[in-house]
Amino acid sequence: MPSDFADLLAANAAFAETFDLAGFDGVAHRGVAVVTCMDSRIDPLRMLGLEPGDAKIFRNPGGHVTDQALDAMVLGVHLLGVERILVVPHTRCALASSSEEELRRKVSAASGQDASWTSWNVVTDQAAALREDVARVRSHPLIPARVPVGGFMYDVDTGLLEQLV
Ligand SMILES: [Zn+2]
Repeated sequence: MPSDFADLLAANAAFAETFDLAGFDGVAHRGVAVVTCMDSRIDPLRMLGLEPGDAKIFRNPGGHVTDQALDAMVLGVHLLGVERILVVPHTRCALASSSEEELRRKVSAASGQDASWTSWNVVTDQAAALREDVARVRSHPLIPARVPVGGFMYDVDTGLLEQLV
């Protein structure tokens, strides 16, 4: 079967030759969970000095604390060893520098389809949105108070994290 993914499957075969994560459990070994953006400039493990197996990572456009992100944090805390939660939006995020209308227009133009019905969780004030997102996690009835929840801005130009919440 010809594959659109041939290059990636070839790389995977090489990866599997030296695969050393067999028998790994699904626990976050460093007790860390991260909610962050899908942006390809972000390497969530490396930016925190973590390795595969150390953390639970939940990504979406913008790095927002959605209902699904909350589900992931609840599972992480109660079943998967999570003891600290970081919410990490980033500088120059498309979801903080465009309006809903602009994104709909761009997707419509790129797809040639009507995208006026889409909604993107665009934010105009990232710091305020981060405060709200962190509050959503902290106030969740199934996230215990013993779990620290921090809000951080990741600078995609310097690699630095700044804690804002
Ligand atoms: Zn982003």
